[in-house]
Amino acid sequence: LNPETFAGESRAVINFLADYYRDVDTYPVQPQAMPGCLRTFLPDAPPENGEQMDVILEEVWRHIVPALTHWQSPKFFGYFQANASTAGFAGEMLSTGLNVVPFTRAASPAATELETVVMDWMGKLVGLPGRFLFSSGGGGVLHGSTCEAVVCTLAAARDRALSRLGHEGIVRLAVYASDQSHSTFQKGARIVGIPRSNFRVIRTSAASGYGLTADSVRDAVEADVASGLVPLYLCATVGTTGLGAVDPVRDLGELARRHGIWLHVDAAYAGSALICPEFQHHIDGAELADSASMNPHKWFLTNMDCCCLWVASPAALTSAVSTNPEYLSNVTEESAGAGVVDYKDWQIALSRPFRAMKLWVVLRRYDGAGMRAYVRRHVEMAKWFEQAVEADGRFEVVTPTRFSLVTFRLRPRHDGDDDAVDALNRRLLVAVNASGRAFMTHFVVDGKFVIRMAVGGAMTEIRHLQDTWELVREKAEEVRALPKV
Ligand code: PLP
Repeated sequence: LNPETFAGESRAVINFLADYYRDVDTYPVQPQAMPGCLRTFLPDAPPENGEQMDVILEEVWRHIVPALTHWQSPKFFGYFQANASTAGFAGEMLSTGLNVVPFTRAASPAATELETVVMDWMGKLVGLPGRFLFSSGGGGVLHGSTCEAVVCTLAAARDRALSRLGHEGIVRLAVYASDQSHSTFQKGARIVGIPRSNFRVIRTSAASGYGLTADSVRDAVEADVASGLVPLYLCATVGTTGLGAVDPVRDLGELARRHGIWLHVDAAYAGSALICPEFQHHIDGAELADSASMNPHKWFLTNMDCCCLWVASPAALTSAVSTNPEYLSNVTEESAGAGVVDYKDWQIALSRPFRAMKLWVVLRRYDGAGMRAYVRRHVEMAKWFEQAVEADGRFEVVTPTRFSLVTFRLRPRHDGDDDAVDALNRRLLVAVNASGRAFMTHFVVDGKFVIRMAVGGAMTEIRHLQDTWELVREKAEEVRALPKV
């Protein structure tokens, strides 16, 4: 790293990105990029002689940008958003620029200290009970993804149970989630060695808004106990990926407590909305949970990657995932004292970035009130879109809009036309995305193909939703005019 050229080259990248953000709404949101498209342009091997930054940026501009899906486009409504912001970027720059590796406190004290402070701040903002805060004996860590958070908490729950049952007991452990829970949960359960035959995927229905009911979980748990299994872990989701559904945390928490089950609350997406008091009832009962997580990198203006994981018992987590090689052992008094957090013991990897810097800059720059206003703007925009869909007899809203996620589809023209209408909706989604003027994704619920419109881009304004609604109506007419598939 040459301090003389560092600023100039970095400035060139920032100018490049500033131009990108200025014009991103004019690019096709999803590219028409064939597999292998970059190989045609790029050499087979890396260069032997380094190139200038302007040459590299020119190639990024000419070959890479056109083949990107533009997640920062204000017309990106797919999956869930991945917010970028000036503060998120500034925080990431500071983190990357300082490039410390805070795996232990001793390895970079301020990075660890800041993470503990930021985790308490975030816990308070989203309305978590005190038991998840460092100030009350719990604590939090910044992971890169919910998947990682789920694996670590599953490992903690497993080890807590196996300390009672002995290692052979692993074949008796059973885990529970709904058919709406994120696939990350099943992946995590596989990774920590839960037999696949012991995964319970509990059906939800429209009657409960596609949330779990305590009765259905109780039935599954009691059947397992009767057959000699040991209920281990229940995942409650606040804001499911497909439909934004919410599982009843208090009911599930009471059930979990009765059976000694580890309850995890996954609020990866909707956790950002929990900063608004009007949404905090969704985590009523969280004091009965063992862990909770949310992703600021989705809807909290924090650039990738950043997942907050809180646990009520840090010891349960660290006893499952800590390692203590000699070369990392603490030798000074201040780094070995009680209450010292070594974040290597709270995650899978050893090395880790200084994510707390990023989240701290976001919180300092945009503040609680600002973030609440930001989230509410998206919620209102989503409501506007939902009302527009409802007012047009050709369409239906599939599930009431939750948070900022709208689910809709074209109605069948005739009763019993369900297969045809699924095909029509697929065509509609493909046509919308192929236009390049917006990007959405889909879900299937009760066998129905549903279009998902996730509102929450950092630069999204109501005019983008108005244009997108016009686009949907235009494409709906076009696909309806096509011969039946
Ligand atoms: N849980 C929910 C509810 C999600 O919506 C998602 C992603 O959209 C995940 C988990 C997975 O998150 P990650 O990509 O951080 O592992």
